[in-house]
Amino acid sequence: MRILVIGAVAAGTSAAAKARRNDEEAEIVIYEKDTHISYSGCGMPYYIGGEIENGEELTPRNPEFFRNKYNVNIRTEHEVLKLDKEKKELTVKNLVTGEVFTDSYDRLILATGARSVVPPIKGADNEHVFTLRNINDMYKIKRYINNRSPKKAVIVGTGFIGLEMAENLKGLGIEVTMVELLPQVSPGLDPDMAILVEEHLEKKGVRVITGTSAREISERNVFLSDEKRLDADLVILATGVKPNVKLAEEAGILLGETGAIRVNTFMETSQEGIYAAGDCIEQYHVVTGKPVYRPLGSTANKTGRIAGNNITGGSLEFRGVLGTGIYKVFDLTVAQTGLTEREALKEGYEISVSHNIKPDRPAYMGGKEMTIKSVADRKDGRLLGVQIVGPEGVDKRIDVFVSLITFGAKVQDLVHLDLAYAPPFSTTKDPVMYTGMIQE
Ligand code: FAD
Repeated sequence: MRILVIGAVAAGTSAAAKARRNDEEAEIVIYEKDTHISYSGCGMPYYIGGEIENGEELTPRNPEFFRNKYNVNIRTEHEVLKLDKEKKELTVKNLVTGEVFTDSYDRLILATGARSVVPPIKGADNEHVFTLRNINDMYKIKRYINNRSPKKAVIVGTGFIGLEMAENLKGLGIEVTMVELLPQVSPGLDPDMAILVEEHLEKKGVRVITGTSAREISERNVFLSDEKRLDADLVILATGVKPNVKLAEEAGILLGETGAIRVNTFMETSQEGIYAAGDCIEQYHVVTGKPVYRPLGSTANKTGRIAGNNITGGSLEFRGVLGTGIYKVFDLTVAQTGLTEREALKEGYEISVSHNIKPDRPAYMGGKEMTIKSVADRKDGRLLGVQIVGPEGVDKRIDVFVSLITFGAKVQDLVHLDLAYAPPFSTTKDPVMYTGMIQE
Protein backbone atom coordinates (compact mmCIF):
# COMPACT_ATOMS: atom_id res chain seq x y z
CA MET A 1 0.00 0.00 0.00
CA ARG A 2 1.28 3.47 -0.88
CA ILE A 3 0.20 6.25 1.49
CA LEU A 4 0.80 9.86 0.54
CA VAL A 5 0.45 12.71 3.04
CA ILE A 6 0.37 16.42 2.19
CA GLY A 7 1.80 18.64 4.94
CA ALA A 8 4.47 17.75 7.52
CA VAL A 9 3.82 19.78 10.66
CA ALA A 10 1.57 18.53 13.49
CA ALA A 11 -1.20 16.57 11.75
CA GLY A 12 0.79 15.13 8.83
CA THR A 13 3.66 13.78 10.90
CA SER A 14 1.35 12.41 13.64
CA ALA A 15 -0.63 10.63 10.93
CA ALA A 16 2.47 9.16 9.31
CA ALA A 17 3.95 7.98 12.60
CA LYS A 18 0.71 6.25 13.62
CA ALA A 19 0.28 4.69 10.17
CA ARG A 20 3.77 3.26 10.43
CA ARG A 21 3.13 1.82 13.90
CA ASN A 22 0.08 0.01 12.48
CA ASP A 23 1.59 -1.08 9.21
CA GLU A 24 5.24 -2.00 8.82
CA GLU A 25 4.98 -2.62 5.09
CA ALA A 26 3.24 0.45 3.69
CA GLU A 27 5.23 2.98 1.68
CA ILE A 28 4.69 6.37 3.32
CA VAL A 29 5.70 9.63 1.68
CA ILE A 30 4.97 13.15 2.94
CA TYR A 31 5.15 16.16 0.62
CA GLU A 32 5.86 19.46 2.34
CA LYS A 33 6.38 22.72 0.50
CA ASP A 34 8.14 24.41 3.42
CA THR A 35 11.72 23.82 4.62
CA HIS A 36 10.81 22.94 8.24
CA ILE A 37 8.81 19.99 9.49
CA SER A 38 7.17 18.80 12.70
CA TYR A 39 7.93 22.00 14.60
CA SER A 40 6.53 23.61 17.73
CA GLY A 41 4.85 26.66 16.24
CA CYS A 42 3.36 27.40 19.65
CA GLY A 43 6.81 28.34 20.97
CA MET A 44 7.58 30.91 18.26
CA PRO A 45 6.55 34.07 20.17
CA TYR A 46 8.90 33.03 22.98
CA TYR A 47 11.87 32.68 20.63
CA ILE A 48 11.15 36.15 19.24
CA GLY A 49 10.99 37.47 22.81
CA GLY A 50 14.27 35.78 23.76
CA GLU A 51 12.92 33.34 26.35
CA ILE A 52 13.93 30.50 24.01
CA GLU A 53 17.48 31.29 22.98
CA ASN A 54 18.01 28.76 20.23
CA GLY A 55 15.35 28.64 17.50
CA GLU A 56 16.44 25.13 16.57
CA GLU A 57 14.92 23.87 19.81
CA LEU A 58 11.56 24.38 18.11
CA THR A 59 12.57 22.22 15.14
CA PRO A 60 14.16 19.17 16.74
CA ARG A 61 13.18 16.80 13.91
CA ASN A 62 14.26 16.64 10.30
CA PRO A 63 13.43 14.26 7.43
CA GLU A 64 16.35 12.06 8.44
CA PHE A 65 14.77 11.51 11.87
CA PHE A 66 11.55 10.31 10.25
CA ARG A 67 13.43 8.12 7.78
CA ASN A 68 15.45 6.44 10.54
CA LYS A 69 12.77 6.15 13.20
CA TYR A 70 9.65 5.53 11.11
CA ASN A 71 10.85 4.68 7.61
CA VAL A 72 8.80 7.65 6.37
CA ASN A 73 10.09 9.63 3.41
CA ILE A 74 9.51 13.37 3.89
CA ARG A 75 10.16 15.44 0.79
CA THR A 76 10.45 19.08 1.82
CA GLU A 77 10.29 21.96 -0.65
CA HIS A 78 7.85 19.90 -2.71
CA GLU A 79 4.50 21.56 -3.34
CA VAL A 80 1.48 19.51 -4.35
CA LEU A 81 -0.16 21.43 -7.18
CA LYS A 82 -3.08 19.17 -8.01
CA LEU A 83 -5.06 16.24 -6.69
CA ASP A 84 -6.79 13.93 -9.18
CA LYS A 85 -9.07 11.72 -7.13
CA GLU A 86 -10.24 9.61 -10.07
CA LYS A 87 -6.68 8.67 -11.09
CA LYS A 88 -5.56 8.68 -7.41
CA GLU A 89 -2.66 10.87 -8.38
CA LEU A 90 -0.89 14.02 -7.17
CA THR A 91 0.94 16.52 -9.33
CA VAL A 92 3.97 17.71 -7.40
CA LYS A 93 6.51 20.48 -8.00
CA ASN A 94 10.04 20.29 -6.67
CA LEU A 95 10.48 23.91 -5.59
CA VAL A 96 14.28 23.70 -5.78
CA THR A 97 14.70 22.25 -9.28
CA GLY A 98 11.36 23.32 -10.75
CA GLU A 99 10.69 19.72 -11.86
CA VAL A 100 7.00 18.75 -11.99
CA PHE A 101 6.02 15.08 -11.66
CA THR A 102 3.09 12.88 -10.68
CA ASP A 103 2.85 10.36 -7.88
CA SER A 104 0.03 7.93 -7.24
CA TYR A 105 -1.46 6.70 -3.99
CA ASP A 106 -3.71 4.02 -2.61
CA ARG A 107 -4.63 6.23 0.36
CA LEU A 108 -4.13 9.95 0.89
CA ILE A 109 -4.08 12.21 3.95
CA LEU A 110 -4.62 15.94 3.57
CA ALA A 111 -2.81 17.76 6.38
CA THR A 112 -2.42 21.07 4.58
CA GLY A 113 -3.10 23.16 7.70
CA ALA A 114 -3.96 26.84 7.66
CA ARG A 115 -2.41 30.16 6.69
CA SER A 116 -2.48 33.61 8.26
CA VAL A 117 -5.22 35.93 7.11
CA VAL A 118 -3.84 39.16 5.70
CA PRO A 119 -6.61 41.76 5.88
CA PRO A 120 -7.02 44.12 2.93
CA ILE A 121 -4.88 46.91 4.38
CA LYS A 122 -2.99 49.21 2.03
CA GLY A 123 0.73 48.74 2.68
CA ALA A 124 0.34 45.27 4.26
CA ASP A 125 3.14 44.12 1.96
CA ASN A 126 5.69 46.59 3.37
CA GLU A 127 8.91 44.98 4.60
CA HIS A 128 8.27 45.88 8.25
CA VAL A 129 4.84 44.16 8.26
CA PHE A 130 4.74 40.51 9.31
CA THR A 131 2.47 37.58 10.01
CA LEU A 132 3.57 34.68 12.21
CA ARG A 133 2.60 31.22 11.04
CA ASN A 134 5.73 29.18 10.45
CA ILE A 135 9.42 28.98 11.35
CA ASN A 136 10.50 31.10 8.40
CA ASP A 137 8.09 33.87 9.51
CA MET A 138 9.61 33.60 12.98
CA TYR A 139 13.18 34.02 11.77
CA LYS A 140 12.15 36.93 9.52
CA ILE A 141 10.66 38.80 12.49
CA LYS A 142 13.64 38.01 14.70
CA ARG A 143 16.14 39.13 12.02
CA TYR A 144 14.21 42.35 11.48
CA ILE A 145 14.25 43.10 15.21
CA ASN A 146 17.97 42.29 15.52
CA ASN A 147 18.97 44.32 12.46
CA ARG A 148 16.65 47.31 12.74
CA SER A 149 16.00 47.63 16.49
CA PRO A 150 12.38 48.81 16.06
CA LYS A 151 11.08 51.11 18.80
CA LYS A 152 7.33 51.05 18.27
CA ALA A 153 5.19 48.11 17.25
CA VAL A 154 1.55 47.93 16.29
CA ILE A 155 -0.14 44.55 16.59
CA VAL A 156 -3.37 44.22 14.65
CA GLY A 157 -5.63 41.64 16.30
CA THR A 158 -5.94 40.63 19.96
CA GLY A 159 -6.37 36.86 19.73
CA PHE A 160 -3.87 34.65 21.54
CA ILE A 161 -1.08 35.09 18.96
CA GLY A 162 -1.38 38.90 19.06
CA LEU A 163 -1.38 38.84 22.87
CA GLU A 164 1.62 36.51 23.12
CA MET A 165 3.48 38.75 20.69
CA ALA A 166 2.57 41.86 22.72
CA GLU A 167 4.15 40.38 25.84
CA ASN A 168 7.26 39.23 23.99
CA LEU A 169 7.84 42.47 22.09
CA LYS A 170 7.31 44.50 25.26
CA GLY A 171 9.90 42.30 26.97
CA LEU A 172 12.38 43.42 24.31
CA GLY A 173 11.74 47.05 25.25
CA ILE A 174 9.55 47.78 22.21
CA GLU A 175 6.55 50.05 22.78
CA VAL A 176 3.40 48.13 21.82
CA THR A 177 -0.03 49.28 20.68
CA MET A 178 -2.74 46.71 19.95
CA VAL A 179 -5.56 47.47 17.54
CA GLU A 180 -8.78 45.43 17.61
CA LEU A 181 -11.82 45.70 15.38
CA LEU A 182 -14.20 44.37 18.04
CA PRO A 183 -15.11 46.41 21.12
CA GLN A 184 -13.03 44.03 23.31
CA VAL A 185 -9.70 42.20 23.35
CA SER A 186 -9.51 38.36 23.39
CA PRO A 187 -12.41 37.85 20.96
CA GLY A 188 -13.07 34.30 22.24
CA LEU A 189 -14.03 35.52 25.73
CA ASP A 190 -17.18 37.19 26.98
CA PRO A 191 -16.68 40.96 27.37
CA ASP A 192 -16.87 40.84 31.19
CA MET A 193 -13.84 38.50 31.23
CA ALA A 194 -12.00 40.19 28.36
CA ILE A 195 -11.96 43.45 30.32
CA LEU A 196 -9.68 41.77 32.90
CA VAL A 197 -7.20 41.03 30.11
CA GLU A 198 -7.45 44.56 28.72
CA GLU A 199 -6.84 46.13 32.14
CA HIS A 200 -3.82 43.91 32.66
CA LEU A 201 -2.38 44.86 29.26
CA GLU A 202 -2.71 48.53 30.14
CA LYS A 203 -1.15 47.94 33.55
CA LYS A 204 1.80 46.38 31.74
CA GLY A 205 2.16 49.42 29.49
CA VAL A 206 0.52 48.06 26.34
CA ARG A 207 -1.79 50.57 24.69
CA VAL A 208 -5.05 49.00 23.54
CA ILE A 209 -7.36 50.55 20.96
CA THR A 210 -10.60 48.61 20.37
CA GLY A 211 -13.50 49.16 17.99
CA THR A 212 -11.34 50.26 15.08
CA SER A 213 -9.29 48.72 12.30
CA ALA A 214 -6.04 49.43 10.51
CA ARG A 215 -6.72 50.95 7.10
CA GLU A 216 -3.26 51.78 5.78
CA ILE A 217 0.35 51.10 6.74
CA SER A 218 3.15 53.41 5.66
CA GLU A 219 6.85 53.21 6.44
CA ARG A 220 6.44 54.89 9.82
CA ASN A 221 2.73 54.88 10.59
CA VAL A 222 -0.41 52.83 10.86
CA PHE A 223 -3.55 54.78 9.92
CA LEU A 224 -6.75 53.61 11.59
CA SER A 225 -10.25 53.74 10.15
CA ASP A 226 -11.22 56.37 12.77
CA GLU A 227 -8.44 58.61 11.39
CA LYS A 228 -6.07 58.07 14.31
CA ARG A 229 -2.44 57.73 13.30
CA LEU A 230 -0.02 55.50 15.20
CA ASP A 231 3.76 55.52 14.96
CA ALA A 232 5.11 52.09 14.05
CA ASP A 233 8.36 50.72 12.69
CA LEU A 234 7.17 47.12 13.19
CA VAL A 235 3.69 45.81 12.45
CA ILE A 236 2.39 42.32 13.25
CA LEU A 237 -0.84 41.22 11.62
CA ALA A 238 -2.45 38.67 13.94
CA THR A 239 -5.94 38.57 12.52
CA GLY A 240 -6.62 34.85 12.43
CA VAL A 241 -6.09 31.96 10.04
CA LYS A 242 -7.88 30.33 7.13
CA PRO A 243 -7.80 26.61 6.29
CA ASN A 244 -5.78 25.56 3.21
CA VAL A 245 -8.51 23.87 1.20
CA LYS A 246 -7.71 24.80 -2.40
CA LEU A 247 -6.37 21.36 -3.41
CA ALA A 248 -9.32 19.56 -1.84
CA GLU A 249 -11.90 21.98 -3.21
CA GLU A 250 -10.53 21.85 -6.74
CA ALA A 251 -10.58 18.05 -6.57
CA GLY A 252 -14.27 18.10 -5.67
CA ILE A 253 -13.88 17.11 -2.02
CA LEU A 254 -16.67 18.60 0.07
CA LEU A 255 -16.05 21.48 2.45
CA GLY A 256 -18.16 22.03 5.55
CA GLU A 257 -20.18 25.09 6.48
CA THR A 258 -17.19 26.74 8.17
CA GLY A 259 -15.20 26.56 4.92
CA ALA A 260 -12.79 23.88 6.19
CA ILE A 261 -12.70 20.30 4.85
CA ARG A 262 -15.63 18.21 6.05
CA VAL A 263 -14.68 14.89 7.61
CA ASN A 264 -16.63 12.23 9.48
CA THR A 265 -15.61 11.11 12.96
CA PHE A 266 -13.08 8.72 11.36
CA MET A 267 -11.40 11.69 9.58
CA GLU A 268 -12.61 10.47 6.19
CA THR A 269 -13.45 13.14 3.65
CA SER A 270 -16.33 12.88 1.18
CA GLN A 271 -14.00 10.82 -1.05
CA GLU A 272 -13.35 7.23 -0.06
CA GLY A 273 -9.66 6.61 0.65
CA ILE A 274 -8.89 10.29 1.28
CA TYR A 275 -8.60 11.39 4.88
CA ALA A 276 -7.89 14.84 6.34
CA ALA A 277 -6.67 16.10 9.70
CA GLY A 278 -5.44 19.17 11.57
CA ASP A 279 -6.02 22.83 10.81
CA CYS A 280 -7.51 22.13 7.37
CA ILE A 281 -10.57 20.33 8.77
CA GLU A 282 -13.80 21.33 10.40
CA GLN A 283 -14.48 19.78 13.81
CA TYR A 284 -17.73 19.48 15.73
CA HIS A 285 -18.51 20.92 19.14
CA VAL A 286 -19.00 18.47 21.99
CA VAL A 287 -21.72 20.59 23.63
CA THR A 288 -23.77 21.64 20.61
CA GLY A 289 -22.86 18.84 18.18
CA LYS A 290 -22.52 21.53 15.51
CA PRO A 291 -19.60 22.14 13.12
CA VAL A 292 -16.92 24.57 14.33
CA TYR A 293 -13.48 25.59 13.11
CA ARG A 294 -10.97 25.62 16.00
CA PRO A 295 -7.49 25.30 14.51
CA LEU A 296 -5.18 24.24 17.34
CA GLY A 297 -2.09 22.11 17.72
CA SER A 298 -3.74 19.94 20.37
CA THR A 299 -6.50 18.95 17.94
CA ALA A 300 -4.13 18.65 14.96
CA ASN A 301 -2.04 16.04 16.77
CA LYS A 302 -5.11 14.10 17.85
CA THR A 303 -6.89 14.13 14.50
CA GLY A 304 -3.63 13.32 12.69
CA ARG A 305 -3.15 10.24 14.83
CA ILE A 306 -6.75 9.16 14.20
CA ALA A 307 -6.36 9.60 10.43
CA GLY A 308 -3.08 7.62 10.44
CA ASN A 309 -4.75 4.87 12.44
CA ASN A 310 -7.83 4.59 10.27
CA ILE A 311 -6.02 4.77 6.97
CA THR A 312 -4.21 1.61 7.99
CA GLY A 313 -7.34 -0.33 8.87
CA GLY A 314 -8.10 1.00 12.39
CA SER A 315 -11.38 2.47 13.57
CA LEU A 316 -10.61 5.24 16.07
CA GLU A 317 -13.29 7.92 16.31
CA PHE A 318 -12.79 11.61 17.04
CA ARG A 319 -15.03 12.88 19.82
CA GLY A 320 -15.11 16.56 18.91
CA VAL A 321 -13.78 19.70 20.57
CA LEU A 322 -14.87 21.97 23.40
CA GLY A 323 -12.96 24.91 21.99
CA THR A 324 -10.56 24.66 24.91
CA GLY A 325 -7.76 27.20 24.85
CA ILE A 326 -5.17 28.61 27.22
CA TYR A 327 -2.59 31.36 26.90
CA LYS A 328 -0.40 33.62 28.95
CA VAL A 329 -0.61 37.40 28.90
CA PHE A 330 2.22 38.77 31.05
CA ASP A 331 1.30 37.69 34.63
CA LEU A 332 -2.14 36.39 33.72
CA THR A 333 -3.29 33.04 32.42
CA VAL A 334 -6.42 33.14 30.28
CA ALA A 335 -8.30 29.90 29.66
CA GLN A 336 -11.66 28.81 28.40
CA THR A 337 -13.59 25.70 27.48
CA GLY A 338 -17.10 24.99 26.22
CA LEU A 339 -19.59 27.72 25.44
CA THR A 340 -19.29 31.35 26.48
CA GLU A 341 -22.40 33.17 27.69
CA ARG A 342 -22.70 34.80 24.29
CA GLU A 343 -22.45 31.46 22.46
CA ALA A 344 -24.87 29.68 24.81
CA LEU A 345 -27.50 32.39 24.30
CA LYS A 346 -27.00 32.22 20.54
CA GLU A 347 -27.59 28.47 20.72
CA GLY A 348 -30.90 29.16 22.46
CA TYR A 349 -30.00 27.82 25.92
CA GLU A 350 -31.73 29.20 28.97
CA ILE A 351 -28.69 29.73 31.15
CA SER A 352 -27.50 30.55 34.61
CA VAL A 353 -24.20 32.38 34.90
CA SER A 354 -21.88 32.68 37.89
CA HIS A 355 -18.68 34.54 38.62
CA ASN A 356 -16.54 33.56 41.55
CA ILE A 357 -13.29 35.10 42.64
CA LYS A 358 -11.21 32.76 44.73
CA PRO A 359 -7.51 32.25 45.52
CA ASP A 360 -5.68 29.25 44.09
CA ARG A 361 -4.10 28.57 47.53
CA PRO A 362 -4.53 29.93 51.07
CA ALA A 363 -3.28 33.51 51.57
CA TYR A 364 -0.60 32.19 53.97
CA MET A 365 0.87 30.19 51.06
CA GLY A 366 0.86 33.16 48.68
CA GLY A 367 -2.51 32.36 47.07
CA LYS A 368 -3.69 34.73 44.34
CA GLU A 369 -7.25 35.30 43.20
CA MET A 370 -8.58 34.01 39.92
CA THR A 371 -11.94 34.88 38.36
CA ILE A 372 -14.04 31.96 37.16
CA LYS A 373 -17.09 32.53 35.01
CA SER A 374 -19.30 29.52 34.45
CA VAL A 375 -22.30 29.04 32.22
CA ALA A 376 -24.81 26.27 32.92
CA ASP A 377 -28.06 25.07 31.44
CA ARG A 378 -30.79 26.43 33.74
CA LYS A 379 -33.07 23.47 33.03
CA ASP A 380 -30.90 20.67 34.37
CA GLY A 381 -27.75 22.35 35.69
CA ARG A 382 -25.47 20.89 33.02
CA LEU A 383 -22.24 22.83 32.77
CA LEU A 384 -21.89 24.37 29.29
CA GLY A 385 -18.73 26.42 29.54
CA VAL A 386 -16.13 28.06 31.75
CA GLN A 387 -13.71 30.97 31.37
CA ILE A 388 -10.93 31.65 33.88
CA VAL A 389 -8.56 34.59 34.19
CA GLY A 390 -5.96 34.73 36.93
CA PRO A 391 -2.29 34.73 37.80
CA GLU A 392 -1.83 31.16 39.05
CA GLY A 393 -3.48 27.76 39.12
CA VAL A 394 -5.70 28.48 36.12
CA ASP A 395 -4.27 25.63 34.02
CA LYS A 396 -5.18 23.02 36.62
CA ARG A 397 -8.76 24.28 37.09
CA ILE A 398 -9.54 24.60 33.40
CA ASP A 399 -8.55 20.99 32.80
CA VAL A 400 -10.83 19.85 35.62
CA PHE A 401 -13.65 21.76 33.93
CA VAL A 402 -12.78 20.24 30.54
CA SER A 403 -13.21 16.77 32.03
CA LEU A 404 -16.44 17.74 33.75
CA ILE A 405 -18.04 19.25 30.65
CA THR A 406 -16.83 16.39 28.44
CA PHE A 407 -18.66 13.89 30.60
CA GLY A 408 -21.81 15.99 31.02
CA ALA A 409 -21.39 17.03 34.68
CA LYS A 410 -23.98 19.23 36.34
CA VAL A 411 -23.18 22.16 38.63
CA GLN A 412 -24.61 20.24 41.57
CA ASP A 413 -21.87 17.59 41.04
CA LEU A 414 -18.96 19.96 41.59
CA VAL A 415 -19.05 20.21 45.36
CA HIS A 416 -18.83 16.41 45.60
CA LEU A 417 -15.54 16.14 43.71
CA ASP A 418 -12.79 14.59 45.80
CA LEU A 419 -10.18 17.10 44.63
CA ALA A 420 -6.65 16.99 45.93
CA TYR A 421 -5.91 19.41 48.77
CA ALA A 422 -2.84 20.52 50.64
CA PRO A 423 -1.95 24.20 51.25
CA PRO A 424 0.83 24.44 48.61
CA PHE A 425 -1.65 23.37 45.91
CA SER A 426 -5.21 24.40 46.68
CA THR A 427 -7.75 25.56 49.24
CA THR A 428 -9.89 23.17 51.30
CA LYS A 429 -12.76 23.97 49.02
CA ASP A 430 -11.17 24.36 45.64
CA PRO A 431 -12.30 27.23 43.32
CA VAL A 432 -13.87 24.52 41.12
CA MET A 433 -16.09 23.45 44.03
CA TYR A 434 -17.07 27.04 44.80
CA THR A 435 -18.28 27.36 41.21
CA GLY A 436 -20.76 24.57 41.95
CA MET A 437 -21.79 26.06 45.29
CA ILE A 438 -22.60 29.41 43.68
CA GLN A 439 -24.47 27.82 40.79
CA GLU A 440 -26.52 25.41 42.92
P1 FAD B 1 0.14 23.49 9.71
O1 FAD B 1 0.98 23.72 10.91
O2 FAD B 1 -0.49 24.66 9.05
O3 FAD B 1 0.96 22.65 8.66
C1 FAD B 1 0.48 22.37 7.38
C2 FAD B 1 1.66 22.21 6.44
O4 FAD B 1 1.15 21.82 5.16
C3 FAD B 1 2.43 23.51 6.21
O5 FAD B 1 3.78 23.35 6.57
C4 FAD B 1 2.28 23.78 4.72
O6 FAD B 1 3.46 24.29 4.14
C5 FAD B 1 1.97 22.39 4.17
N1 FAD B 1 1.22 22.47 2.91
C6 FAD B 1 0.04 23.11 2.69
N2 FAD B 1 -0.33 22.97 1.40
C7 FAD B 1 0.64 22.23 0.80
C8 FAD B 1 0.81 21.76 -0.52
N3 FAD B 1 -0.09 22.03 -1.48
N4 FAD B 1 1.91 21.04 -0.81
C9 FAD B 1 2.82 20.74 0.16
N5 FAD B 1 2.71 21.17 1.43
C10 FAD B 1 1.61 21.90 1.75
N6 FAD B 1 -1.99 25.58 19.11
C11 FAD B 1 -2.22 25.14 20.38
O7 FAD B 1 -2.93 24.13 20.57
N7 FAD B 1 -1.66 25.78 21.46
C12 FAD B 1 -0.86 26.87 21.32
O8 FAD B 1 -0.35 27.41 22.30
C13 FAD B 1 -0.61 27.36 20.02
N8 FAD B 1 0.18 28.44 19.84
C14 FAD B 1 0.43 28.87 18.56
C15 FAD B 1 1.27 29.99 18.38
C16 FAD B 1 1.53 30.47 17.12
C17 FAD B 1 2.39 31.66 16.96
C18 FAD B 1 0.97 29.79 15.99
C19 FAD B 1 1.24 30.29 14.60
C20 FAD B 1 0.15 28.69 16.15
C21 FAD B 1 -0.13 28.23 17.43
N9 FAD B 1 -0.96 27.11 17.64
C22 FAD B 1 -1.21 26.67 18.91
C23 FAD B 1 -1.60 26.43 16.51
C24 FAD B 1 -0.81 25.24 16.00
O9 FAD B 1 0.50 25.63 15.69
C25 FAD B 1 -1.49 24.68 14.77
O10 FAD B 1 -2.79 24.30 15.13
C26 FAD B 1 -0.78 23.47 14.19
O11 FAD B 1 0.48 23.85 13.67
C27 FAD B 1 -1.60 22.85 13.06
O12 FAD B 1 -0.89 21.81 12.49
P2 FAD B 1 -1.25 21.27 11.04
O13 FAD B 1 -0.26 20.20 10.76
O14 FAD B 1 -2.69 20.92 10.96
O15 FAD B 1 -1.10 22.50 10.07
